Amino acid sequence: MGYMVEDRHLTAALHAALAATAGLTRLTGETVTAQQPAPASIALDLASGRRMTARVLVGCDGRGSGTADRAGITRTGWDYGQTALVTGLHHSEPHAGTAHQIFLPGGPLAILPLAGGHHSAVVWTEASSLAAAIQALPDSGYLAALAPRIGRFLGDLTLAGTRFTYPLALSLANRLIAPRTALVGDAAHGVHPIAGQGLNLGLRDVGALAEVLILAARRGEDIGAADVLTRYQRWRRFDATAMALGIDAVNRLFSNDNPVLRAGRDLGMGLIARMPGLRRRFIRQAAGLTGELPRLLTGRPI
Ligand SMILES: Cc1cc2nc3c(=O)[nH]c(=O)nc-3n(C[C@H](O)[C@H](O)[C@H](O)COP(=O)(O)OP(=O)(O)OC[C@H]3O[C@@H](n4cnc5c(N)ncnc54)[C@H](O)[C@@H]3O)c2cc1C
Repeated sequence: MGYMVEDRHLTAALHAALAATAGLTRLTGETVTAQQPAPASIALDLASGRRMTARVLVGCDGRGSGTADRAGITRTGWDYGQTALVTGLHHSEPHAGTAHQIFLPGGPLAILPLAGGHHSAVVWTEASSLAAAIQALPDSGYLAALAPRIGRFLGDLTLAGTRFTYPLALSLANRLIAPRTALVGDAAHGVHPIAGQGLNLGLRDVGALAEVLILAARRGEDIGAADVLTRYQRWRRFDATAMALGIDAVNRLFSNDNPVLRAGRDLGMGLIARMPGLRRRFIRQAAGLTGELPRLLTGRPI
């Protein structure tokens, strides 16, 4: 169905690709303090006092997007009251390339296989107050709380690497565009990590925006014009909103100990497991292979 790629490897590969791309200027340690769209361009003020202009500004600054705020784009969403505890885990039994998700009343506990067979990433969701107490424990107490939730199928467990926490919330931008501005990634839609879809959704935005802008440039259009950016919003908005609300519903269904809901979801999961056609459809959806895919996401050049 897919691969688990550690963020640090992905980030290093992206930085290497940036360095190898001609015509690209990368400014580090800079912060945008103001943005001002004009009829033919958008001007940016940086904290260092530098001023820049562009035909289009792409906001990829995450769910607290300053680009969206400054453009007057409001957001819809809610706090899940859940926090994800994230850590690395070493286990004596091999994971055999299988990802596991254990549905507990406080939220899902995902064990995601990493390279080497005996190392996994854990994304463990709990109610925020309990998560804060668990995070405050020393490693021994943390492992004592985690190990019984996982059980014995991975053998002896030891913690490996830094422990992080992420408060979970849904945060959808009400528009993906503003004058001479487009939002991609979590700046456009921050979703619950239960389905591991956040980055995948962002990559689809990037592929779609690149395709819209490149085709517009080839036709001689102004790439920051409202009708060009509207094509991007039309393409991505429905997919992003539908996926965000679908993931929200899955989280409500699974982060729950109600016996009726539990029976319903067990029945549903059992049916999916027994119907290969339906299972394949879910797998294709989770792997991002359904809908109107940008060319870049199918491995084709634009
Ligand atoms: C616990 C957890 C597990 C997850 N697991 C998965 C998974 O398995 N699969 C998956 O697809 N997704 C997963 N996600 C979601 C994924 O991490 C996000 O969707 C993805 O990181 C979003 O990328 P982004 O570049 O849009 O935003 P971000 O990763 O938030 O990056 C935004 C960047 O902008 C920078 N920035 C912000 N403001 C400024 C400024 N003013 N000036 C300069 N820089 C600025 C920030 O420093 C940051 O580097 C998970 C998320 C969580 C919390």
